[in-house]
Formats: sequence, C-alpha cells, structure tokens
Amino acid sequence: MNMEFERKLAIPTEVKRMYPITAKVSTIVEKRARKIADIFEGKSNELVLIIGPCSADNEDSVIDYISRLTRVQEKVADKIFIIPRIYTNKPRTTGFGYKGLLHQPDPDAKPDMFKGIIATRELHMRAVLETGFSCADEMLYPENHKYLDDLLAYVAVGARSVEDQQHRLTASGIEVPVGMKNPTSGDFTVMMNAILTAQNPHTFIYRGWEAHSKGNPYAHAILRGHTSKHGKSIPNYHYEDILLLCDFYDEYMEKYDIKFPSLIVDTNHCNSDKNPFEQPRIIKEVISSSKNHERIRKILKGFMVESYIVDGRQDIGGGTYGQSITDPCLGWEKTEQLIYEIADMW
Ligand code: PEP
Ligand code: MN
Repeated sequence: MNMEFERKLAIPTEVKRMYPITAKVSTIVEKRARKIADIFEGKSNELVLIIGPCSADNEDSVIDYISRLTRVQEKVADKIFIIPRIYTNKPRTTGFGYKGLLHQPDPDAKPDMFKGIIATRELHMRAVLETGFSCADEMLYPENHKYLDDLLAYVAVGARSVEDQQHRLTASGIEVPVGMKNPTSGDFTVMMNAILTAQNPHTFIYRGWEAHSKGNPYAHAILRGHTSKHGKSIPNYHYEDILLLCDFYDEYMEKYDIKFPSLIVDTNHCNSDKNPFEQPRIIKEVISSSKNHERIRKILKGFMVESYIVDGRQDIGGGTYGQSITDPCLGWEKTEQLIYEIADMW
C-alpha cells in the first residue's frame, strides 16, 4: 500500500481503561438514555433538540456553550429535551479543510490521531461531568464508535455516509437512537434502506471481530435538504416532504419490521442553504405543519440545529472565541430566544 503506518493506536478497551467513566457519569448517561428512548417510543411528548456547533473545535468554548444550555434546559424541561451536539469528526466535501477534533485536537497544529482519540473522549466526558448532558456526535468512522459508546446520547449518520454498508451495520449494533440523514442527492429510499438495515440484526466484521448486532429499533430519519444537479440547495422540511416521508414509513412498515417511525428535522445545511438565521423560521413552519396533520405530529420527534456562541462562521485560525470554523451557526442570544419560542409553541 502507498501508506506509511506510523504507530498502532490503543484499542477502545485500552483507552477506556486509561480514561474510565465514573459511576456518576454512567448514571447520568443511562438515565438520559431511558428518557430519550421514551421520546422515540412515543411514551413522552417532549421534543428532542439536538443543538450545538457544526464542529467541536475548542474544548473550552464548547463546554462554555453547553453550560449555557443547562440554564435554558431547566426552564423548558417540561417541553424540550436538549442533546448538545459535540461533533468531533467532520466529513469534508472536497477532502480538504478541518477534519475535526479527532484529527486535529489543536486546529492550528498538525494532525495527531492518538491525541485526537483522547481529546474526543475527554470532551464528551467533561460535558457529562460539568453540565449533566450526554451529547450527540456524528459516526463518520464506524470503527471509532466504541471509543465513545459509553458516553453518547445520540448518533447521526451523515448525508455522505448513509449509503455505506459498514455505517448501516454498525448502527444496527448501537443502543441509542441513530439518525440516518437523507443523502446529498435527496433520495428518500437511500435513507429508508439505511433505517431498515439498522433496525435489523446482522453478522459482520467489526474492528477485526466477527460480530453479531441485535438491530436498533431507534434508527430513524433526519431530513437535511439536498443538492440539485446544478449544486443548488433544495429544502425538504415542508409539509408535503414530511407527508411523503410518512408514506415511505407506512410502505416500509407494511413490508418489513420497522419500529417507532420517527423524524428529526435538520434546520441548517441544505434546508437553510447554510443561512443559519433561517433556522428559527424553519422550526416554526415544521411545528405548524405538525399541528395541521396528525401523521406529522406523530413522527416528528425534534430538530437538529447548528448553534454556537457567536453568529456565523470564520476561517480556521480566525481567532474569534465561540464562532464556528465549519458551517455557519446561530449565535447564543438568538439560540436562547429560539428555545423559549419552541417551548411556547410545542
Ligand atoms: C453536520 O451535521 O454538520 C453535517 C456534516 O451534516 P450532513 O451530513 O447533513 O452534511
Ligand atoms: Mn454542519
């Protein structure tokens, strides 16, 4: 192979031994997992809000941001269940640019994968300990999931990964809800087939093991808009789009064994055409759609929002504390107001 193998990295069991979770952390993670399962099973009407920066580029500003969410969470606890986004690895459309904390624990220094593995685990652990939130991350590299599986509340499979078999099979062995995004092409069947695969048991190779998964009944859809053949963003959060998803769920549930049909609407990316300030309007429209149709009300479980301390984005090395270095985000003041508005509407 045309590759230099620099060093063998510690396996998840070793890293967990070096950085073990305490009883306090595991109690929080488990308690929250039960609450999240209740929402996806329809036993609780709380709305899930997966919210936070596009990428977790800086430990301190991410913890600062999540700490602000704790104060808001207390005030809306009867309506909204917040799961902060701590996205430690980023898919790159062209392969260039910041690949996330996993690759570059210091965005200004060169990649260090061992430090990256430790940094992602420490950040997720710090979030639970210091804020009481277990968080969401994207599963960009399925083989890395076990470094974090005792800490995560929610896992997303991204638009560029959702058609990949290893992602789907790994999702079938994950206990927490896994959101399958529609692909960048927009084809709902790709996302539905990912959900179907993930909901069923499989035998496959995982980290050098012959592994058997049990199937994940909480695998569900995330609508994030898509891109046309001319490279334009096409939203898919409108009333008709969601009813189409309901039809797909009905069809798949008639043919196959799929449980808990659920939808999370990603309000940024191609739904907002990466204008983060559109996110509040999109959320209000979707909630209004849910009030107009019982089918929408039933499958809608929540939203994914890109939000950080400072509005917008900057290039890597820009130096603004709490501003995204990947997709543009909604800043803190607007975010706080938005969460209260959602709680009033729901
Ligand atoms: C993201 O959530 O930041 C992301 C990269 O999403 P997608 O896979 O939908 O592009
Ligand atoms: Mn993003």
